[in-house]
Amino acid sequence: MDKKTNIGVIGVGHLGQHHTKHYSKIDGANLVGVFDLNQDRCKSVATKYDIKPYKTLGELLKKTEALSVVTPTKDHKKVAEECINKGKHVFIEKPITKTVAEAESLITLAKERGTIIQVGHIERLNPALLPLEKFDINPKYIEVQRLAPYMSRGTDVPVVLDLMIHDIDLVLALVKSPIKEISANGISIMTDSVDIANARIQFKNGAVANITSSRVAKDRVRKMKIFQQDLYITVDFLRSLTEVYRVMDADKTDPSAIMSAPLVSKERHRQIFYEKPTIKKQDALKMELENFIEAAQGKVKPIVDGTAGKNALDLALQIHNKILEDIQ
Ligand code: NAD
Repeated sequence: MDKKTNIGVIGVGHLGQHHTKHYSKIDGANLVGVFDLNQDRCKSVATKYDIKPYKTLGELLKKTEALSVVTPTKDHKKVAEECINKGKHVFIEKPITKTVAEAESLITLAKERGTIIQVGHIERLNPALLPLEKFDINPKYIEVQRLAPYMSRGTDVPVVLDLMIHDIDLVLALVKSPIKEISANGISIMTDSVDIANARIQFKNGAVANITSSRVAKDRVRKMKIFQQDLYITVDFLRSLTEVYRVMDADKTDPSAIMSAPLVSKERHRQIFYEKPTIKKQDALKMELENFIEAAQGKVKPIVDGTAGKNALDLALQIHNKILEDIQ
């Protein structure tokens, strides 16, 4: 049997407790303990999973090979740096850091120390997105909406860095092209920061992404529409519903698809093939952490590495700064 990776969690608040829960069940992980500045919280989570609550990060680092950093974002750089300096692999929750310079410094340090950085852009593993792997994705236009009712948690950062950054990472993963132009606007409603934002990103290959994020909506919405030549895909992340419409020559057959009546377009006999792939029920956080353990064991590459995390942060900050220019 493969050796298990000794793992610890730093910061066991709202999200860190879920990291702890998953590591306690992942085959390749040996959950050693947790550390939190709030020692009461540290003890209560440790008791629940029958592991050791650590009083200092230094003590936890001595016993582990890999760690999840689930502290507030402002502390990611300091905490992750301490881990990497001791040669440990780190899974850093999103956003990777507060600034691009901080992210770059962690990436350089990890390269020097030969350690892995993985970033918690969890939507990459959303089961509703997995059917896209079957298609040759080359989007011309992407429309994304992520709306959430107001909650005080997460409002220490603007909506672009809290919610929109998930979609920014997805769009960057789907459109593999440099950015040509960004326009953005946003408003503040409930907090002193921007609560609703819209960004239009034009890529050098001609693709355009239009992303709307709000944390003052009545209902939760998380939807993405992808348009490209002969293909239209809608993904509802919340309902785990993916629908695929393909336009193909009428003489093609696809037993998995429902076909429209034949239509004539561009003087060719075409048909629309509709498909609703079965979505497996899977916990995206668990899958992310399993990927991290395997990456720490050198078996796979991290799904979202430090550079991808930095690129998402970089674009998010550019969008946020555009919004601020407009507001001032
Ligand atoms: P939280 O405030 O609920 O928990 C943070 C915990 O870290 C607290 O228990 C706090 O005592 C502890 N802490 C603070 N500074 C520390 C330090 N230097 N060392 C050790 N412990 C420290 O926050 P949260 O909502 O769990 O968010 C944590 C991180 O996760 C943030 O970066 C946030 O952006 C990210 N997050 C990501 C997602 C996602 O969808 N991937 C969702 C929510 C939060």
